[in-house]
Amino acid sequence: MNWLPLYFKPQGQSVLVFGSGDVATRKVRFLQRTGFPITVISIDETAKDRFTEFESVDVIHSTGLDSLSSQLFENVIFAVAASEDHSADVFFAQQARQAGIPVHVAHSIDDSDFLLPAVIDRGPISVAVSSAGQHPTLTRLVRNRIESVLPARLEALAELALRYKDKVREKLSTINARRAFWERQLEGRVADLVYSGRDEDAERLLLESLDSITSSTHGVGEVYLVGAGPGDPDLLSFKALRLIRQADVVLFDRLVSPQILNLVRQDADMIDVGKRRSHHTMQQESINELLAKLAKQGKRVLRLKGGDPFIFGRGGEEIETLSEHGVPFQVVPGITAAAGCASYSGIPLTHRDHAQSVRFVTGHLKNNSSELDWPSLVAEQQTLVFYMGLVALPQIAEGLVNQGMSQDMPVAVISRGTLPDQRVLISSLSRVAADVTAAELKAPTIIIIGTVVNLHEKLGWQS
Ligand code: SAH
Repeated sequence: MNWLPLYFKPQGQSVLVFGSGDVATRKVRFLQRTGFPITVISIDETAKDRFTEFESVDVIHSTGLDSLSSQLFENVIFAVAASEDHSADVFFAQQARQAGIPVHVAHSIDDSDFLLPAVIDRGPISVAVSSAGQHPTLTRLVRNRIESVLPARLEALAELALRYKDKVREKLSTINARRAFWERQLEGRVADLVYSGRDEDAERLLLESLDSITSSTHGVGEVYLVGAGPGDPDLLSFKALRLIRQADVVLFDRLVSPQILNLVRQDADMIDVGKRRSHHTMQQESINELLAKLAKQGKRVLRLKGGDPFIFGRGGEEIETLSEHGVPFQVVPGITAAAGCASYSGIPLTHRDHAQSVRFVTGHLKNNSSELDWPSLVAEQQTLVFYMGLVALPQIAEGLVNQGMSQDMPVAVISRGTLPDQRVLISSLSRVAADVTAAELKAPTIIIIGTVVNLHEKLGWQS
């Protein structure tokens, strides 16, 4: 970011627009929505008519730029050069600047002191989008996308919230409690009612919620146990993203990619509880207790986990502790590594011709391979997916072969699946241990075993 977005309030000063063609008219139409008085300077005598539709727009006809009076620049907050004649625009910009007024030159970022962004306007809520003048198409796409996710009646919701701001403040003394209250209203049923045009019902419900507040129910925060998926941030669910954006404190571990951690609110506390193999930064019990403790301080605590929290994620243990402490929580599923890696490597985990079932197995063998039920793993038409299996891969391959699986059974080892540096190594049971050592794959890796692996050659779409 090398341009600072700011919002200016109209306070009597006016905006000077140079030019009277299509571009200038568009700029005037945009600026006029903000309530700044506007003066248009036009060289073209006939241009006056074009601006009759606008209120608070004066048009001054000037015979040439040299004849511009310095008085024009008095009490002006900023100027816009939009005449479509580049050298005239630049000349005008110089004069404005000499008078100490920042200027925007519509067709030349290099000659501009500031930008006019694309704006999504929902009453008091507005979003400004800019690509520093470099990618107008991209700006438009981003703007359209934001337009489409912002409810059309957001303004009505903002007005309702404003009307009750003081009442809520009287009732709830702490910022955390007020924030939690507003979040529930502005994202829940009250908002839904406003969006569907039922303003009175929404107001009634808001009042009821306010009346039913008791101090005891508002002291406790909440824990969000959220699956962050295998790495690609685009694989997050909307709900995951929403909770990530609103958490006050975040407990994350190694598997959560930096791109996803970047989505966390800037003022949220980040706690790395990074679990590594045989090197636990924080014991599981301490994590469980910490979650409960933070929530009891009234915080919204995000427990962010790689993949899905309920698949080899110990999510169950964490919420068990919360439930014992009476701390409210919600669980948001994530795309588990098996699913993410399978899709991104073009290996369907089930397939009519290859596998009617799939098993997710932990390859983290504590003592020895006797923990696994080998006979059941060697079944026909079944895909095996080993999580945390890289270290024990030689024992896994050997165990399966000993139990009668073919030495030639295809194996895929996927490293950093769904991330830009994803790698897929295709091998067979007999060769995979040696191949993996030679390939020096980076963690995390997942192992897929079964004839579905053969489909990678045809269906792999990533590389
Ligand atoms: N809860 C997670 C799994 C945690 S166990 C989930 O649902 O995905 C950690 C193991 O997941 C790793 O050892 C690795 O086997 C697998 N894994 C997680 N992310 C991965 C990725 N991006 N690529 C490959 N394997 C991954």
